[in-house]
Amino acid sequence: MIKEKQDLIIKVNELLINRFGIPPRNKKLPDPVEMLIATILSQNTNDRNSYQAYQNLKKKFSDWTEILKTPVGVIEKEIKVAGLGKQKSKAIKNFVKQLYEKEGKLSLKYLDNFLSDEAIKDLTSFKGVGVKTASCVLLFAMDRNICPVDTHVHRTVNRIGIVNAGAPDKTFFLLNENFPEKKAHSFHTNLIRLGREICKPQKPVCAVCPLEKICGFEDKNYDSKSSSKEISFMLLDNIQ
Ligand code: SF4
Repeated sequence: MIKEKQDLIIKVNELLINRFGIPPRNKKLPDPVEMLIATILSQNTNDRNSYQAYQNLKKKFSDWTEILKTPVGVIEKEIKVAGLGKQKSKAIKNFVKQLYEKEGKLSLKYLDNFLSDEAIKDLTSFKGVGVKTASCVLLFAMDRNICPVDTHVHRTVNRIGIVNAGAPDKTFFLLNENFPEKKAHSFHTNLIRLGREICKPQKPVCAVCPLEKICGFEDKNYDSKSSSKEISFMLLDNIQ
């Protein structure tokens, strides 16, 4: 069963690379603390708005420790464009405060010595940091072979039949069990692109999907009026 799942992931990854190419990556990995803040900002909004909010924060704070003495309301104002300002500003302030109290500095370097599942456990112990945020930090800032599961990855891997799970966090743990080596970044990034452009929530455009022949979804849609749309800006590969 594990072998079958791995083979399917490898096949899907290959077909997606044939269609979309190998997703580009920054040569230099971003700082994990910055990645964690950027990922909090990215929740429930589009990449452009969360990137704008991230840039506003970078301009406002030359050093993230300044957040320690900044009222939540000030942070909220800076990140308004990304929506859920109250919730996100609290999560950011709380993370910075807790990390500083724990380490005496704003660094997640100690995670280098942790196995990935230990690192997920550690990061999710910060209030306001969920499994998706933790796994984005591991993939994008620490180059771990971990595939984060957002709404697009959850929907597509379940439709394809790689896992069978009702909630994103359950999908995450099933999907990442023995994930094929060195495939997580391209698989994750290209699946999000597939989910945004083709395998959309309401009407997937199965007629143009590169996975059409291997996908196990029972309600495929071949309506000729449905169309796909190209969206290429990806936030977490643009954090530096
Ligand atoms: S064939 Fe259809 S349902 Fe399956 S992954 Fe492609 S777009 Fe989604």
